Amino acid sequence: MGHLASSGTIRVVSGSDVSASLFDRARAVSPGGVNSPVRAFKAVGGTPRFMSSASGSWLTDADGNRYVDLVASWGPMLLGHAHPEVVAAVQAAAARGTSFGTPSEPEVELAEEIVARTPVDLVRMVSSGTEATMSAIRLARGFTGRDVVVKFAGCYHGHVDSLLAEAGSGVVTFGLPGTPGVPDAFTAETLVLPYNDPAAVRAVFSEHGDRIACVITEAAAGNMGAVAPEPGFNAFLARTCREHGALFVSDEVMTGFRASRQGYWGIDGAVEGWAPDLMTFGKVMGGGFPAAAFGGREDVMRMLAPEGPVYQAGTLSGNPVATTAGLTTLRLATDEVYTHLDDLASTIQTMLRDALGAAGVPHVVQSAGTLFSPYLGRTEPVRDFSDAQDQDPAAYRAFFHAMLEHGVYLPPSSYEAWFVSDSLDDDALDQIEKALSAAAPAAAAATA
Ligand SMILES: *Cc1c(COP(=O)(O)O)cnc(C)c1O
Repeated sequence: MGHLASSGTIRVVSGSDVSASLFDRARAVSPGGVNSPVRAFKAVGGTPRFMSSASGSWLTDADGNRYVDLVASWGPMLLGHAHPEVVAAVQAAAARGTSFGTPSEPEVELAEEIVARTPVDLVRMVSSGTEATMSAIRLARGFTGRDVVVKFAGCYHGHVDSLLAEAGSGVVTFGLPGTPGVPDAFTAETLVLPYNDPAAVRAVFSEHGDRIACVITEAAAGNMGAVAPEPGFNAFLARTCREHGALFVSDEVMTGFRASRQGYWGIDGAVEGWAPDLMTFGKVMGGGFPAAAFGGREDVMRMLAPEGPVYQAGTLSGNPVATTAGLTTLRLATDEVYTHLDDLASTIQTMLRDALGAAGVPHVVQSAGTLFSPYLGRTEPVRDFSDAQDQDPAAYRAFFHAMLEHGVYLPPSSYEAWFVSDSLDDDALDQIEKALSAAAPAAAAATA
């Protein structure tokens, strides 16, 4: 049951009965039937597809439908799925033992690779991006002896209590919890500012500068669609933090080892000659396994236990199978791979603009390194979260489902970037182009 039928030259997905029955079973035993909310398709409606296997740039669902994957597990699958060398390395590592609870060589090799690619002096491994940002914030507070954290609206840093904050009414206000379950006191020390707004940063430092432990930002925003920092914005943040004795924390969980070989820092800091005090990594560096890290300046990192007083730990941190997957992925991610990813990202963006333009859908397609995303229903660039909210969700819903029906798996939300993998070949690009020719008119028909 369920297959890719032929409709002219366009392969069309048919049937999601098995996914639908798995979703019913899942909802009976898990809230919303998922283990991470965006997977439930609430923003776009319909039945989430349960995937059963993946290879290269193609996903196969439980009904046997195939899709070109432009989500790549939300970033990690840089090389594509089930890359033979990564699979072989993982199998060999697993056969040697899946966890020792002691130090082991793969975690040292992965740390060496991260230190070689980025400006950090030392790294500590953890198991998720959330843990990385949570620990980096704790370390920044421990190092500075200050409590206030500055973040930007629309930047996501995992589900850390104090970072799940929304701005209060004014521009320079302390955060309110963005979810029940987070006490006001936890976000009371979090200041939320509009992204790409140096004046707001200046204002907050002139009022609270001696209380600010750190500014945390995505190196390039990728969790409100793709919103690049304006030229000089990250450098300005690094400089402002230094002037006030605060730390600059650059969250590269999404962009690290993806936006370029050196992450987004390779596009701005490495060129402009500045470095963050702390950085966080995840996604690509785990090669599809739960591995993440934070790292930074030597004097700051040596404050961590067991060298210093700031406590941080993890039973599975630096896990030998996960770090082997990440290390193998990074070693295979050569300069040629990054050039190919750049080419693929610009090819798909051009297809997207052409298709939306031909169908008369108002749109802007934005990129940040190899991340990109369309905003439907607007033509002005998106600079911050309030811009990002000014788009047409109905148009995206129609577009998303038409792409899905035509065998292309996009993020099930218009607030997410699209991710390319090195494995996207001509066949996959062909499928994307054909799907776009059906989905753009669908978006036009649904445009408010
Ligand atoms: C995904 C993401 C995180 C959280 O990582 P998890 O592994 O999902 O906990 C943090 N920061 C950014 C920028 C991310 O994109």
